Amino acid sequence: MAMQKFRAMDDGEFQETGKVSLNKRILYLLLVLLIVVPIVVGVLVWYLAPPRSCDNLPNVEGESGANTGSEVTTTTTTTEVPNFESEPWKNLRLPRYIIPVHYDITLFPDIYNGNGWFYGNESVEIRITKDTSYILIHYYYMNITKTMLKNNSSGATIPIKRTFSYAENQFWVIETVSPLLSGAVVRLETQYDGSLTRSMVGLYKSRYVNSITGETRYLATSKFEPVSARRAFPSFDEPNIKAQYTIRLVHQDGYTALSNMPEVTIVPWSEDSSLRITSFQRSVDMSTYLVCFIVCDFQYLESRTKSNILVRTFATPDRVNQTKFSLDIAVHSMDLYEQLFNVSYPLPKQDLIAIPDFISGAMEHWGLITFRETNMLFDPEEASSANQQRVAVVVTHEIAHQWFGNIVTMDWWDDLWLNEGFASFMEYLGAASFKPSWDMMEQFVTEDAQPVMLTDSGMASHPIIVEVTSPNQINEVFDSISYSKGASVIRMLESIMGRDKFFLGVGKYLKKYAWANARTDDLWSALGMADEAAGLSVKAVMDTWTRQMGLPYVDLTFSYTENKVTAVQRRFLADNSMQYNATDSPYMYKWYIHLDHVSNTGSGSPVWISKNEDSVEFDISVSPQMNQSVWFKFNVNQTGFYRVNYPPNLWMRFATMLQNGGLQELSNVDKAGLINDALNFARAGHLPYDVALSMTLYLDQEHNHLPWESAYTAFAYISSMFQYGGSYGAWRKYVVMKTKPALEQLGWSDTGSHLQKLMRTNLIALACGHSDSDCLNNATVLFRAWLDNGQVIPPNLRQLVYRYGMENAGTDEDWNAMWEKYTTETVPQEKTKLLYGLSRTKQVWLLSRYLGMTKNESLVRSQDFFAVLIYISGNPVGRSLVWNWVRQNWDYLVGRFTLYSRSLGRLIPRVIRTFNTEFQLEEVLEFIGKNPDAGAGARSRDQSLETVRRNIAWMERHQSTITEWLCRQTSC
Ligand SMILES: [Zn+2]
Repeated sequence: MAMQKFRAMDDGEFQETGKVSLNKRILYLLLVLLIVVPIVVGVLVWYLAPPRSCDNLPNVEGESGANTGSEVTTTTTTTEVPNFESEPWKNLRLPRYIIPVHYDITLFPDIYNGNGWFYGNESVEIRITKDTSYILIHYYYMNITKTMLKNNSSGATIPIKRTFSYAENQFWVIETVSPLLSGAVVRLETQYDGSLTRSMVGLYKSRYVNSITGETRYLATSKFEPVSARRAFPSFDEPNIKAQYTIRLVHQDGYTALSNMPEVTIVPWSEDSSLRITSFQRSVDMSTYLVCFIVCDFQYLESRTKSNILVRTFATPDRVNQTKFSLDIAVHSMDLYEQLFNVSYPLPKQDLIAIPDFISGAMEHWGLITFRETNMLFDPEEASSANQQRVAVVVTHEIAHQWFGNIVTMDWWDDLWLNEGFASFMEYLGAASFKPSWDMMEQFVTEDAQPVMLTDSGMASHPIIVEVTSPNQINEVFDSISYSKGASVIRMLESIMGRDKFFLGVGKYLKKYAWANARTDDLWSALGMADEAAGLSVKAVMDTWTRQMGLPYVDLTFSYTENKVTAVQRRFLADNSMQYNATDSPYMYKWYIHLDHVSNTGSGSPVWISKNEDSVEFDISVSPQMNQSVWFKFNVNQTGFYRVNYPPNLWMRFATMLQNGGLQELSNVDKAGLINDALNFARAGHLPYDVALSMTLYLDQEHNHLPWESAYTAFAYISSMFQYGGSYGAWRKYVVMKTKPALEQLGWSDTGSHLQKLMRTNLIALACGHSDSDCLNNATVLFRAWLDNGQVIPPNLRQLVYRYGMENAGTDEDWNAMWEKYTTETVPQEKTKLLYGLSRTKQVWLLSRYLGMTKNESLVRSQDFFAVLIYISGNPVGRSLVWNWVRQNWDYLVGRFTLYSRSLGRLIPRVIRTFNTEFQLEEVLEFIGKNPDAGAGARSRDQSLETVRRNIAWMERHQSTITEWLCRQTSC
């Protein structure tokens, strides 16, 4: 799955409480279908007694009865230690002696005539490997209306003593009259139904307006990872319980049904009906969370890979032409990965589909990848370079999962990072191969590694491999540690081992565990040795990076008299005054660090700092302390997940050399690394701020995107701390002083390379964001020409023009005009930019009205709800408004999204993360005191509290030093 990002904006999830009443006619049709399907399709799986009239229909709210009905009883939990032998349902995990082999599923999602209910029939073939009287199967938010158990070969009914729900663990439990014996093969048949409008997970209904015809159209689609397959079909819903699937989807004529496998037949369900049954090929063995069902009226483009795999890109008919770029990069990355992994793509087809309402960034359903529209559609006339890059990495991420995740799946969610870290690394490699000029492997550093280093340097971080049990914890682990830190340590390992050796090991791993599951250690053993010469296995090295949280920094001391350097490793914390207990980690917060360097005197051999030692001393060609013209840069190309601290005089040497046009031999990514390290050492209290800020003095001469991207982030933190205080004036002046010359040289015309376009948006954001009048004037002229005369704004400038035009000159009429444009816009990325622009008005009453509008789903789609709140909270006049609104509406939010939503869990942390006063902290603590249950947001809440406390300390410690330094630079 790809996280939904908009400068770290995560996915959204919604919940409606309205329940659609049962359409009895349709249920009747489906039940009759159960009889017709076996005859028509020739698959004899249905032996359910058909009701002949509506009067005989089972009560879908759950009927009580002995053998075939479902007795719904919710067991209350006790504090006793449960006995899993006698009461297996009390164990959160499924027993391993009930093994599904094959699911046969027929589903009718009724999205027609205003309906929103689904009806399902399922028959699961199950092998029993230990005598038992209980079958446990996951189900959630559905009514199971019929349950039967049969002998698989004879078809004889197996008497059921009782069935019941154990809601705490989301189990449907079937107790048999006599034990099922080891070796038995049984068939569990169920009928069930549920709502399509409850949320954006499970099986759900989505809608769009076809801009060509003006019609509102509906579709049914699904999204199951991690634990929502159980909302669409009773299932053994754990990633290491793989089975095969035969799927049939019932739909109206004129709609296309899609699933993981290619279709086999489409037949009418009866002569006089407009319903059709699309049947799909039996699947390969796969985990429940990878199953996908879609019924829609979309169109597609198609192409083929070198291995002749059919690749299709689906979208709404009016947007299908925006899928060309996705199609090209999907085919390219499939070819690339087949060659890199040396493992063929195993399915006959690969579909990619852009869904109008989607909770995450995208989801790697095998053979049918679903995307949020902004992450798959690309119109070069309308969308920006950043939009295009986002589409590229999301597509290559999801395609990588088709091998890493789908063929070999993590055994349990504690190893989620295996799936996500690896795919988050491969997304850069795939995009780099398609677009070499984008410097994707370098952009990895500023986009993924640097942001997650910040998260990981707090006390409330967690190890990459983390114990998870409850559904809340499973949801929570889809975070930047699993994704970005996971990818960072994979990138580090690939760099240490070398690409060929690394992928040879990955190929071995994929072949050995194909169609099955694996754990982190299985990957390490397939990869073998990290460094033969040093005698270090991959496992020895990587355990220190994956089984303890945090990251190290390397403190360097260069000898004044000899050519020697001493490198000491220490844990890097976001504030050096924080205390921790080393024994909390099994590795005492020591790591295996592969330390390499470049220098203008030539590069030397890398050395290891072992987890058992604090330091290492080694020879270099010449000491920079002896020779003023020499420099050394450690952690070459920032491939190591650690920071490097130099003595202050050597930091100053870097700063001076940069200002004098030196350090030409240094790569752009190394410059970005120096800026990020220096400012983070200062922020944590290791390095005086005047030294660190000196590293930014040269930026007016910097013409590459990467160092500017690092600077942008560092500047953003200081701006967010200063923007409500007295030092902001001097700070604004400094940022503009550095930004303006670089922007003047680059110009406002939307031309140049991809990286230049990215850099231009950063420079404009910095200049306008720090009130440069020329910048604001330019933005306002474009804004007025657009609103008043319909003049087109170049795609890369749009978001900035909407923002700064609205901030600088937007009236309430302008706001309404922009809203009008939002409602009629058809390009998804453009819609997002307009939503953002609307959040930047300085008129509080408009913002307040905008907040109220987010409650109306026909105005703001649920998938965009959290983004809008976060946009408004980023507006200096909107932050306290959102904070108040969220507190006032907390019950509404929990009711709509539930505490299970990680998007809701991350909302308050996002809103409060720039708080920096004791008063604000007290407000947060008071709110938490009243609402202690954070659900899937528990860790984010801890992290944000820590951040606020650190911000307060930062202001006390650094504000005056920075202000004094600024006055020296800007003569304030
Ligand atoms: Zn993923």
